[in-house]
This record gives sequence, C-alpha cells and structure tokens, in this order.
Amino acid sequence: MKQGILDRIKKNLTDLSKAKRKGIKVGKLKFKSDYRNIPLKQNGITFKVLKDKNRIKLQGLKKPLRVLGLHQLPENCDIAKAELIKKPDGYYIHLTCYTDKDRIKHEKINKPIGIDFGIKHQLTLSNGVKINYRIGETQRLKKLQKKLSRQQKGSRNYQKTKHKIQREHQKIYNRRKDIKNKILSLLKRYEYVLIQEEQVKNWHSGLFGKQIQDTGIGGIISMLKQNIETLIPVDRYEATTKICSRCGSRKEDITLSDRTYKCESCGLVIDRDFNSAVNILKIGLSRVETTTVKNLPTDCGEVTPVEREATARVFKGSPYIRVSYTSVKQEARLF
Ligand SMILES: [Zn+2]
Repeated sequence: MKQGILDRIKKNLTDLSKAKRKGIKVGKLKFKSDYRNIPLKQNGITFKVLKDKNRIKLQGLKKPLRVLGLHQLPENCDIAKAELIKKPDGYYIHLTCYTDKDRIKHEKINKPIGIDFGIKHQLTLSNGVKINYRIGETQRLKKLQKKLSRQQKGSRNYQKTKHKIQREHQKIYNRRKDIKNKILSLLKRYEYVLIQEEQVKNWHSGLFGKQIQDTGIGGIISMLKQNIETLIPVDRYEATTKICSRCGSRKEDITLSDRTYKCESCGLVIDRDFNSAVNILKIGLSRVETTTVKNLPTDCGEVTPVEREATARVFKGSPYIRVSYTSVKQEARLF
C-alpha cells in the first residue's frame, strides 16, 4: 500500500513538473495531513475479496472487513485492482474487474420506446410503464441545516453538525446516482429511445422550478444523451400533449390539470402522460429514416412479459422508486 501511495506521489510530481515546463502555473507544494484514497494494487496481496463471506481482507488488518454490495460483481470476473476511498459517509472500496463483453450485455428488447418526463409522474414510457421516484432533500438535512445556522461558527458542535450534513449529502447523492443508473439500465435495452428534451427548460423558468430540480430530470436527460447511442430527440415545438396518439386529431383546450386525454374524434380515453409518450415515440420515429418506422411492432403501446420482467428486475429492492402500469382497453389499440 505504501508503495502504491509512493508511486502515485511520484507520478503527481512528474505530472506537475511537466505542466510547469509547459508554462502552466502550478504553485507551491502543500503539506497534506490525510489521504482520502489508497490504491490497492495487488489482488491477493494488498487486498482479497471473500465474496461468499461478504468480506474484504486488507493487508495489515487482522480481521476481514464486512462490505456491502459484493453481489454486484459479475460471476467469474477477474479482479484487477482496488482503491480504498474515504467519503463523508464512510469507507468505500472501488473494485476494477474484467469480464467477457458478451456476458454483461443485457438482453435486448426489440422495440423503440418514447419517454414523457413529468412532475406528477417522473417518467411515463410509451408502453404504459410509469416510473416515480423522489430524490429531494431529506427532512433530516433540513433539520441539520437549521441546527447549523444556530451554532457558533468553528465550535466543536458546529464541526460535528457540518460533518453530519456532509454525510447526509453523500447519502442523497448516492440515492440519486442509483436511481439514475437503474433507469439507464432499463432504457439501454431498447432499440431506440425517444425523448422531447426542451420541455424541461420551460419548466425551470416557470412555477415548477424547485419540484423539477428534485426530480433530477435534467441530469437524467444528459445521462441518456451520453450513454444511449440510439437516442432520438423530438423537437420541442411538437405538440405532443395536444394530439390524440391514435387518430392524430388535435385538441387545444387541454390544461396541466387534465390527467386524462379524451379524444372527441375517435373516442380514445388515455392517461395524459401515456398519450404524450406514445406521441413522442410516433413523431420521433416519423422524423428519422429507419426501417422500424414503417413496421412498428403492434405491441408498442403495451408492456410485453419480457419488458415487465426486465422492469421489475431492474428496480427490484429500491425503496425510492415506484413502478406502476397504465394501459388502454384492448379494443382501443394504439398501434
Ligand atoms: Zn383520437
């Protein structure tokens, strides 16, 4: 471990001198009293994963440490190196491992999916799946912040509260990250993902600023953009909420409080967000030249057993995400 730290210091110093030679201002070296992460380079020597015992043995410590999350390691993977990290809410171990590329590939769902982002329901998919989650500030955080404001700056108790706030922030951050990862993991399986992104910007300026921030939708959209190669954005001027997703007739007098869309032309009665999601899917696909557009699967507007199973598996065990299903009557098929 000491060797690992030394190597890292050496590398940092050479990098600094390189930067200096290039003319970048580097400043003076500063003394550092603590180290927030320690590289563990040799699997089996500096660290050892005892997967069936949920423990990790670290060199120099007699007892193996109990860790959470080892179940996330893929089976038969080669563990290369690790890093011991100190965060405000505790100690983490970051494992790097290698596995066959095919093995981590998720089974694909052979259809495109449209997503409507909302305040009441955070995500509504064009197959009728609704994903609700909350990742706002916790009551505890608010309490602690209030407490801090009453304490004397720099005092011991002030420091204690500050530390607790840091821990709470870390926890909220972790929750958000987990939710985002789970959503991405589900959407990655689809052939195409269609979103109407500019919606969000309009909300930010409006009444819903705070509520929108808590949903982290902006973050989710940028994550989708970075990670999904087949993402298709739909122009923000498309009136995806006003059009009937089955017959295409337009209805002007729909307000934010109308939770269902009732079509006067074809008689479709459908959840408002579901209607938008289907529209985003249809409009988005009609604007790109792909073969799928002409022959959309007839089950686009419903959840197939494969999707149901995948959705349940991805979100299983998360207390912060709620999944529900909405549909139209069988005789009113959308596709
Ligand atoms: Zn209609």
